[in-house]
This record gives sequence, structure tokens and C-alpha cells, in this order.
Amino acid sequence: MSAQIIDGKAFAARVREQVAEHVARLNRDHGLKPGLAVVLVGEDPASQVYVRSKGKQTVEVGMNSYEHKLDADTSEADLLALIDRLNNDPAVNGILVQLPLPKHLNEDLVINSIDPAKDVDGFHISNVGLLGTGQKSMVPCTPLGCLMMLRDHLGSLSGLDAVVIGRSNIVGKPMSQLLLGDSCTVTIAHSRTKDLPDVVRRADIVVAAVGRPQMVPGDWIKPGATVIDVGINRIDKPDGGTRLVGDVDYDSCAAVAGAITPVPGGVGPMTIACLLANTLTATCRANGLEEPQ
Ligand code: NDP
Repeated sequence: MSAQIIDGKAFAARVREQVAEHVARLNRDHGLKPGLAVVLVGEDPASQVYVRSKGKQTVEVGMNSYEHKLDADTSEADLLALIDRLNNDPAVNGILVQLPLPKHLNEDLVINSIDPAKDVDGFHISNVGLLGTGQKSMVPCTPLGCLMMLRDHLGSLSGLDAVVIGRSNIVGKPMSQLLLGDSCTVTIAHSRTKDLPDVVRRADIVVAAVGRPQMVPGDWIKPGATVIDVGINRIDKPDGGTRLVGDVDYDSCAAVAGAITPVPGGVGPMTIACLLANTLTATCRANGLEEPQ
């Protein structure tokens, strides 16, 4: 195995430490304490785990965490009324509505009802537009975490060939915008892409955000390429039980790549760290203070 392992867990711990230091300064110099409100509708087990983990890490960096757990049959009007209250609450600097929402709720409508300045997930149409036009925005947490790891590992990304596999609004599309913003030559692949192996073989940077366990084998990877695995898939182990794997076949890709993120311990921890960083940024912007770098 030759690839360098990009340790997202350690990187995320450093990001959280920097956020905590900045929060302590905000508190000391300006009497501010950032607040993050997380709204969970229903009882999806994976979402419950994420929300618990977000709440715990929010408090650990010195912010206030406000959790709103609503019944699965909550009406759209009640959810919108809660978001309206949070939009107008000065103690709340960031609002995150945990996705997916139950089927009877219109996800686009709900997300677009969040004040864009408090939209720390970066999914509001205004933030999507700002990112797409290269303006200051709230950047979606998972792609932001991927970009930070890429910059940390590679330095300048300018001129590199990047292939993003997946075109979802939460990962693939914003990831492509960020890579374009860093002057990569970007290809977005998806389920209709022809000759996907050949497309991926051209890439200096491969970001896999597909949701298919171990789909990308090592022989699709250009030797020395940097591989960022966004996928989180639970598969059965031969001896019973389950384990988490990514969208790339880790062992065969690590044998060829220059660097690779593991699953777990790669992109996942960076996502929550970036959520906290975004909440800090939102707090600074709301108070006219200098933003963290
Ligand atoms: P979506 O299901 O929304 O999107 C998947 C994308 O993959 C689609 O664009 C789809 O193409 C494409 N795709 C599906 N099959 C193929 C194929 N055979 N070849 C090429 N492309 C294909 O998923 P998400 O973007 O929400 O998530 C992707 C993965 O990332 C999941 O495993 C998810 O769990 C994980 N994830 C991890 C996070 C983290 O914090 N680490 C955060 C968010 C997601 P098409 O559009 O044509 O259907």
C-alpha cells in the first residue's frame, strides 16, 4: 500500500480547536456566544445519531446548542413557524434542518425558509447562487471539508484535473463549484456518464460521492492521484455484523493513489467540524466582526 492516508479525524480535531479558540475570543472581547439550532423531524436512527453528535461537538467548542425534535407527523406550517422563530431569535446564529425530511414535507420550501445568513448548511438557493457566482456565501459542510483536506494535502489545486462522481445538490454540485473556484478543470460524472473508468483515470483528484459501496476500484485511479471518499455505506461482514465502507474500494485504490481518505475517519468528521466553522462565520458576519480564515 503506497498512498498517504489523509487523516480527517485529526484534521477535524484541529479545526474544532481553532473554532473553540475563536469562540473564546468572541466571548471574552465581545460578550458573544454563538448558537446553533438543529431541527430534527421524525425518528430516523441515522439522523438521530448525527444530531446527537452535532449537539455534543457544538457545546464542546463553547457554543450554545439548541435541539428541536419534532414528531414525524409535524405539519409543514408548524415547521415553518419554528424556522421563522429561529430566524428572528438573536441567540441563534446558525440553523440546520436535518435531512431527509419525512415525505409529506417540501424540502426545498423548508430549506428556503431559513434566513440565508443563518443557513450554515449552505443549501438555501441564495447561498447556492452566491457560491455558483464566486461570491461570499455559506458553503455546504461536506464539500468544504473535502476542499480543506485537498488544499492541505496538495497546496494549490490550480490546473489539476478533478473528477467528481455524483451530482447531488448537497455534495457533488457544490464540490464541483469549489474545485472550479480553485481553478481545477472539473468533470462531473453521474449515473449516465459513458466510460466512467476512463473519465476517472484522467483525474489528479477524484471525489467519490455516489452512495454505492466500494464502487471505484484501484484500476480506475491514475497513479499518484488524490482520492477523497465521501461515501458512507454500511455493509454486512462475512462473519456477521456490519461495517462502514466508502464509495471507493479502499485497498486497491490505496495501492495506486498518492493519497486517500479512509472511511470512517476521513470526510465524515470534517463535515461536523465545518458546520461549527460555518456557525462561527455566521456569528462574525452577523456582528460585523472579522471572519475566521
Ligand atoms: P445522492 O444519492 O443524492 O447522489 C448520488 C449521486 O451518485 C447521483 O448524482 C447519481 O447519479 C450518482 N450515481 C449513482 N450511481 C452511479 C453510478 N453507477 N455511476 C456514477 N454515478 C452514480 O447521494 P449524496 O450525494 O447525498 O451522497 C453520496 C454519498 O455520500 C452517500 O454514500 C452518502 O451517505 C455520503 N455522504 C456523506 C457525508 C459525510 O459527511 N461524509 C455527507 C453527505 C453524504 P444521478 O444523478 O444520475 O442519479
